[in-house]
Amino acid sequence: MLRRHSLSQRNTISHVQNTQSVITRFAPSPTGFLHIGGARTALFNALLAKRHGGKFTLRIEDTDRKRSTDEAVQAILDGLHWLGLEWDGEAVSQFARADRHREVVDQLIAKGAAFRCYLTPEETESLRDAAFKDGRALRSPWRDRDPSEAPASASFTIRFKAPDTDVVLHDAVQGDVTWAAKEFDDLILLRADGVPTYNMAVVVDDHDMGITHVVRGDDHLVNAARQSQIYDALGWDKPIFAHIPLIHGPDGKKLSKRHGALGIEAYRAMGYLPEGLRNYLLRLGWSHGDKELFDDSEMAALFDLKGLGKAPARLDFDKMAHVNAWHMAKADDTELTTLVFQRLADRDDVRRDDTAKVWVHEAMRVLKERASTLAELEDQVYFLIRSRPIEITGKTAKALKDDARARLGRLRAILADISDWNEATLGAALQSFAEAEEVGFGKIGQPLRAALTGGAPAPDMSFVLAILGRDEVLSRLDDVI
Ligand code: GLU
Repeated sequence: MLRRHSLSQRNTISHVQNTQSVITRFAPSPTGFLHIGGARTALFNALLAKRHGGKFTLRIEDTDRKRSTDEAVQAILDGLHWLGLEWDGEAVSQFARADRHREVVDQLIAKGAAFRCYLTPEETESLRDAAFKDGRALRSPWRDRDPSEAPASASFTIRFKAPDTDVVLHDAVQGDVTWAAKEFDDLILLRADGVPTYNMAVVVDDHDMGITHVVRGDDHLVNAARQSQIYDALGWDKPIFAHIPLIHGPDGKKLSKRHGALGIEAYRAMGYLPEGLRNYLLRLGWSHGDKELFDDSEMAALFDLKGLGKAPARLDFDKMAHVNAWHMAKADDTELTTLVFQRLADRDDVRRDDTAKVWVHEAMRVLKERASTLAELEDQVYFLIRSRPIEITGKTAKALKDDARARLGRLRAILADISDWNEATLGAALQSFAEAEEVGFGKIGQPLRAALTGGAPAPDMSFVLAILGRDEVLSRLDDVI
């Protein structure tokens, strides 16, 4: 069953109005999963708000009823929760605010900045073609016509009367960007069915939510120009715009699924930590000198619009792993133990009892340094919690010839008698055993490793012995002797 998401169904927004501080928003359309680009946009907006002690809000742009789904809303909310990007207040549903959008459209009509347009789709198309040949965008003849000339009961749209002045947008990332007036058509604000269009809804919502900064992908740059015209027509203050270049694939081409344009849950499944992904996404388009690694307090203290770059950032999985490894090493041992056992929940070749959890927890300080993702950590803890008898295959099995088994038998007797079971005494015992047997350490270490780990990756043997404890070590040895 889908968990019900809670979107505010109110069309008035009171909780964020009338404050002077920074208010940002993340405004996804719920038509798919939360992808990596969206996650980065959310992060930048969350950090900007945090840096200034402001508010980070969430607005679900669910106006397109055909393409918006509850599952997608849920995926976005879940993705943000997992990434640790908590928004202030209730998430706002754009669809629920349609009455308010229509109210502002009426204001524009009253100001003479918008008008009823009775063009049929066919008329629109031929006028658009003609305008295109003239090198300009469509202007509806109804902008100057008296509505009394309208055909009776014909359906109409509400269009914005595109101004004759050029548009200059001051963008915190792109600098000043100019568009000629003739590039903009008389934009539809309200469709014939009364549904507000995207640019209209966004302006009203950003204004009503008190948004001070809009940070989003540069695919919205032209929209910002259009929105800027609507702000001007309404006499409303504009937010500061910052349009960031989209993320590219490792080959510099536009990001596609093949590249990793995946839902955020796919990165979770690959074993990235939320803090690792936050750090990686931060550096994907934002920089602070050549500093790569940031903990959360550094991110919140240093993030600013100045650090946003103009060149598209490339996805780089090696770097992602490197950044994540740093966060793995810093992560809390108990937390990592919980996370790794969650990942192991469906495996039947491992122990998941309390003893196994204690081993993993004790070994974590060493194992976490050897893994750059939780998936790698899963491999690292495997030797500890393998179910007995441990299957020994391939090259590892070769270390267990008869003489080696006999030697392990002699080692077993010594280990059984060790009074102080710790890494140092065990290391010393292994060393003196090798000397007594007059063999190199490898002749002891390899068969011992085979018996205790079955060949799975594992740290130093004395560490392995110390963590597993005498009973488990002797049992594993007995299985092979
Ligand atoms: N809903 C738009 C999108 O998902 C974003 C709108 C905005 O940030 O202004 O692309």
